[in-house]
Amino acid sequence: MKFGFDIDDTLIDLRGYAFQLYQQKLGREVGRELFDQLNRVEIHELFDLSDEEGSKMWNSSLEELYYADCPVYPGAVEILQQLDREGHEIFYITARGAAHGEGTKNWLKSQGFPVKDGHFYCGMKDQEKFEIIQNLELDYYFDDKPAVIDTLSGDSLNVIIRDQSYNRHVEGLRLTDWSEFYHLVKSKTS
Ligand SMILES: [Mg+2]
Repeated sequence: MKFGFDIDDTLIDLRGYAFQLYQQKLGREVGRELFDQLNRVEIHELFDLSDEEGSKMWNSSLEELYYADCPVYPGAVEILQQLDREGHEIFYITARGAAHGEGTKNWLKSQGFPVKDGHFYCGMKDQEKFEIIQNLELDYYFDDKPAVIDTLSGDSLNVIIRDQSYNRHVEGLRLTDWSEFYHLVKSKTS
């Protein structure tokens, strides 16, 4: 089968990592419960930053966010390695900028993710993921972002929502922990 994965906040805890990093950089402590209640992807309002300031903060932190110690969600690497061993095809589809394509691929490999040439797509807008996913004729696609999930439909594609506080209003199959992967995939195929 063909499996497609978004990266940030689907396979790795980038927002949670950014939340920690912002606290360090701004010298401020913010309660985790506030983060857990956020109903948007962006986290800057927790630090009283405007959208413009938040966007600057995010862009100036990209190197640290993308290439340092962002934690991978438990189990994600092992599951993708097993899929790879079983001969399934694995695709990564991320809206990270094209300038971060090579760096991101290398970082994924350094974490143990199986990354094959030609199986990595980056630099698209959220709405453009749809076309790539359609053309790849994926069996399964995993993403966290409502703006992406909303664009995806199709009889042959199974979309699985990686659960986050900002996507709970979206209906569909939901994965809250990677340990649920085989249960979700099997229950859908049986
Ligand atoms: Mg994402």
